[in-house]
Amino acid sequence: MNFDKNKFIASVKDATRMKYAKSFDSALEYEKFNAVSMTLMEMLSEDWNKTKESYGKKKQASYLSAEYLMGRALGNNLISLGLYTEVEETLKELGISLNAVEEAEEDAGLGNGGLGRLAACFMDSAATEDLPLTGYGIRYDYGIFKQKFEDGRQVEQVDNWLKYGDPWSVRRLEDAVMVEFADETIQAIPYDTPIVGYGTNNINTLRLWKAESVDAFDFKLFNDQDYTASVEKKNSAEDISRVLYPNDSEQAGKLLRLKQQYFFVSASLQDMIKDFKKKSNDFNEFPEYYAIQLNDTHPAVAVPEMMRLLMDNEGLAWDQAWSIVRRTFAYTNHTILAEALEQWWNGFYKEILPRIYEILVRIDEQFVAELEGKGYDADKIESMRIISNDMIKMAWLSIYGSYAVNGVAYLHTELLKHEELNDWYQLYPNKFQNKTNGITQRRWMALANKELSAYVTELLGTDEWVNNLEKIKELEKYADDEAVLEKFMAIKLQKKVQLAEYIKEHEGVEIDPDSIFDIQVKRLHEYKRQLLNAFHILDLYHKIKKDPSMDIVKRTFIFGAKAAPGYIRAKSIIKFINDIADLVNNDEDVAGRIKVVFVQNYRVSYGERIFSAADLSEQISMAGKEASGTGNMKFMLNGTPTIGTLDGANVEIVEEAGEENNFIFGLTVEDVNKLKGNYDPKVPYMTVPGLKEVVDALIDVTFDYTGDEDMQELYTSLLKGASWHAADNYFVFEDFAAYRDAQMKVDAAYRDKKAWARKCWMNMCNASKFSSDRTIREYAKDIWNIEKNRI
Ligand SMILES: *Cc1c(COP(=O)(O)O)cnc(C)c1O
Repeated sequence: MNFDKNKFIASVKDATRMKYAKSFDSALEYEKFNAVSMTLMEMLSEDWNKTKESYGKKKQASYLSAEYLMGRALGNNLISLGLYTEVEETLKELGISLNAVEEAEEDAGLGNGGLGRLAACFMDSAATEDLPLTGYGIRYDYGIFKQKFEDGRQVEQVDNWLKYGDPWSVRRLEDAVMVEFADETIQAIPYDTPIVGYGTNNINTLRLWKAESVDAFDFKLFNDQDYTASVEKKNSAEDISRVLYPNDSEQAGKLLRLKQQYFFVSASLQDMIKDFKKKSNDFNEFPEYYAIQLNDTHPAVAVPEMMRLLMDNEGLAWDQAWSIVRRTFAYTNHTILAEALEQWWNGFYKEILPRIYEILVRIDEQFVAELEGKGYDADKIESMRIISNDMIKMAWLSIYGSYAVNGVAYLHTELLKHEELNDWYQLYPNKFQNKTNGITQRRWMALANKELSAYVTELLGTDEWVNNLEKIKELEKYADDEAVLEKFMAIKLQKKVQLAEYIKEHEGVEIDPDSIFDIQVKRLHEYKRQLLNAFHILDLYHKIKKDPSMDIVKRTFIFGAKAAPGYIRAKSIIKFINDIADLVNNDEDVAGRIKVVFVQNYRVSYGERIFSAADLSEQISMAGKEASGTGNMKFMLNGTPTIGTLDGANVEIVEEAGEENNFIFGLTVEDVNKLKGNYDPKVPYMTVPGLKEVVDALIDVTFDYTGDEDMQELYTSLLKGASWHAADNYFVFEDFAAYRDAQMKVDAAYRDKKAWARKCWMNMCNASKFSSDRTIREYAKDIWNIEKNRI
């Protein structure tokens, strides 16, 4: 975008005066952030409108997602507009640091973890690829909670991300629609956020709905001085978009959550239908104008809601409506955790969405008839039908109502086809596809690692890699070039110094940038096995205590993770790791050789500092459990080898980067399947040297956990299991020895600086498959059938 320095300065100053009645110089940091952002909004508005108009003429895709983990917008938009340096220099002339202004922005944390971040990367990539994709979701007043530690335990605080306003969205009252529940009618008001493409003028849209009452408040009650009652309706309506449910993976069976789902799905479909009717009055053509992607099952109620809108509002017959539905929707499955497959008690549906329930019953009957026609037996039908035992199976509904179903990594899709969803694969083999996840290199490299980006651009002689990551493969020719690798590792050190400073300031812990930064950041979940990492650290500590002169490469173990507030075991694991940190960091015998730090409030903006500063990427989930992972890709792109299991996209990462440049260990999916049912964790517990000692730290005198029943329960879950699962359900004990061996290999490999640098380099050069640009192009071509539409 063209940049007129004087005009920019004048606009920023105007904005500050208009919004805050202050001069720019006297404005607070967040006020400056708002003024700069408002100015950029003004600058991009024309292209944004042009893009909207242009997209309206051809087939478009809509992404329905309950979560968008966007992070900050300012820096990313400046990169995409190609204005980062200009704005940085202009502000500098005014005596202002762009960095400080960026820091004033709250993360838009409207998602939990990988699923929500994927949606955000897809938005970025679609805009960059000139693809007509609109994101639809919920504008939560409060996003994912802010995390603090008190005495090593997680404390949650509300995330009031809108407290300074949101300069990056526009409230579009003219596009408001009504959403009806049995007990209330709500107004859905869209807030549009521009998604700036890189290397193009295209600007896509993220449309998030806010729930409001139809009448602001009851004036009569207010007049009668019944103040609480006067705002009751308003509050009840606004509750719907109040908070993001802070659950990752596990389903949240809450009535309000059901209302959230229906609310944003109904509003989004009405929005599309309104637009469609401007172009055609033949609804059979709807699938030629719109493809709708369901990001997991959270928006699955779109299937019966579309039926309702087509039949009740537009007068279509059932068969015609059903045919349209089945040519419109596609569904992405994100999990193989059985407990995460969403289901709803039909009583809730009957109560608040009676008409939708009627339609669901008919969909179920139609499906049963289809299966009977194919000769399926009664048991099989019961296990596959949409409504069974008073529960509505959202995944089954999504598969039945869609024309395409995809997993998110090769291994994941194979497991879906041949295990989890095998019945469905046999029924509809042609529906199943793989779409390996990706990440946007704009945020995770160009923005987060400007130093490495500049060097990559210098070596390539072009910055083409920013929207064509395949270019980066050309750098492989430098894999044995000492000067290049030295510069590369000097940049890595620089990023480590920056992270160390940030950690000192925010966590109060001093870490040594010359140590190996061994990092595990992701949501806290048993299957992700942060506990395996913790046990290894404690084992290393025990070894140092026994042999204080032990020769190991200095290492800093860094963790970052939020635990769902109700997930007690996950919270106990956080406490355990923080206690290990206390023990290790303060022991004179350790003499700084190992250090442990659990950073608070891991989120997108923290991640931007972390991925670029890592020496080792921990991807150690139990094989078969991590659908894809995307954190693994962010590390790889920033030149970080993985220590990991053959799970999710790790399989493809080592396929691309070479197994010799990573540290693969442990049980495979096949091993796990063989072991299931005849696994006795007491065997490794009693026989693997050192293991019993570290596991027993959960209950012995190592830490003072007297009276901590939760810690005892965590210990019991490993040795005895629980009513709902077997002992050591995620094979932490079984994989412990192999993990420790792999960690010893890391220690040995790191000593050879040149060979280590080469591994890092090879990871970066082979990361192009994991650009979300590639992923989104595949969705566009193989699923949505939409084309580039460049303005
Ligand atoms: C990428 C990302 C995730 C996903 O991490 P995984 O390791 O793939 O689970 C979660 N949270 C944040 C903030 C992220 O940036």
